[in-house]
Amino acid sequence: MQHFTLAIILGIVQASILADTLDTKIAIAVKAVNEDVINWRRDIHQHPELSNREFRTSALVSEHLLSLGLEVETGVAHTGVVAILRGGKPGPVIALRADMDALPVVEKTGLPYASEMKGQYQGIEVGVMHACGHDNHVAILMGAAQVLTSVKDELPGTVKFIFQPAEEGPPMGENGGAKMMIEEDVLSNPKVDAIIGLHIAQLSRVGTVLYRPLGFMASAQSFDIEITGSQTHGAQPWSGIDPIVVGTQIINSLQTIVSRQIDITKHPVVITIGRFEAGVRHNIVPGKALLSGTIRTFDAEVRTQVHDKIRRIVQQVAESQGATATIYIDSGAPVTYNDLALTTQLVPTLKEIYGEDQVMLTDRVGLAEDFSFFQERVPGFFFFIGGRPRDIPASEAIPNHSPFFYVDEGALPLGVHGMSRLAADYLRGRKGE
Ligand SMILES: [Zn+2]
Ligand SMILES: [Zn+2]
Repeated sequence: MQHFTLAIILGIVQASILADTLDTKIAIAVKAVNEDVINWRRDIHQHPELSNREFRTSALVSEHLLSLGLEVETGVAHTGVVAILRGGKPGPVIALRADMDALPVVEKTGLPYASEMKGQYQGIEVGVMHACGHDNHVAILMGAAQVLTSVKDELPGTVKFIFQPAEEGPPMGENGGAKMMIEEDVLSNPKVDAIIGLHIAQLSRVGTVLYRPLGFMASAQSFDIEITGSQTHGAQPWSGIDPIVVGTQIINSLQTIVSRQIDITKHPVVITIGRFEAGVRHNIVPGKALLSGTIRTFDAEVRTQVHDKIRRIVQQVAESQGATATIYIDSGAPVTYNDLALTTQLVPTLKEIYGEDQVMLTDRVGLAEDFSFFQERVPGFFFFIGGRPRDIPASEAIPNHSPFFYVDEGALPLGVHGMSRLAADYLRGRKGE
């Protein structure tokens, strides 16, 4: 009996020494690659590229991944790069994802490596800037690829690195992003068991992590409503059908979905009309009115219910006034939904690296993220890492997409360490306390 207990204790001690060895090797490798990560990130920041036009970024990424000896596939969903790292032992497949695209924003940070690039967006020449911080995501994942390659013999399983184009949405008339990568089978060969992604933000201070299990970021759809009435003189409205009055009734009725028809203690929903166009002159009742809006939900079933309710209100309010209406709701992005078991498994790793009190549960976020398409197919975990400098208070945080968006480079090694350890710990099946 005693021998048996001793054997168990020795086994535990041996296992923890082995684990520590890999953890230590990863920590050392993160430090070693840090200068490169900073340089890659500055280079990518200075050369931002719009969605589906990430040619230079993609070349930089694939060249690096090839230099590590990985199996690299390019041209996935236009400019995407996918690389496979096979560990020395059999095991599951974990995917790590970084998005690569920049935005049509003129940079105003004044940084020495600020972008002066120009690009074409919807036929117009625009400034281009990494105003959402995707330059950081690319550099972090390039670093993690190098770190994990350096310990590959000890990894029980496979890591798939996914460098994704067009997270901000492909240009009009084009496909792209996570959805297109999935259509091109990025989650097969080898089949991905789980996927991890991160976003950098000034929402949180450098050194901290924000996460939320289950519905984290919103599902977003845009919609367009066209109301057809009957044009007439503004002095004789009874001789026509006024689509402006019908439109206002539709707008008011749509707001009752959130205020009267959804259990808001459980399910936050936002319905916003952002555009209402009708008419050309004060004394003409126009024949048509156009409305556009956005819908945000945090649960797939609630999303379907809200869509049904919107359709019903639009049709029946128009009908009640003798008008007709058509509605088109786009497929948009699903809920960024963090798998509960995977989140529970991975959060202790983040706490170990960043510190117990630096990894915080956060509120839902009304923005959408196309990482959600991956999470519809396989269990996924998406989290925020802090990019706000320590001396800037939360009240002065610069939002993503601002021309002044700025990230503290201290976030980079933390990102590399986080991604590397999350992958290694997932493969090793390590669970938290
Ligand atoms: Zn963005
Ligand atoms: Zn983003």
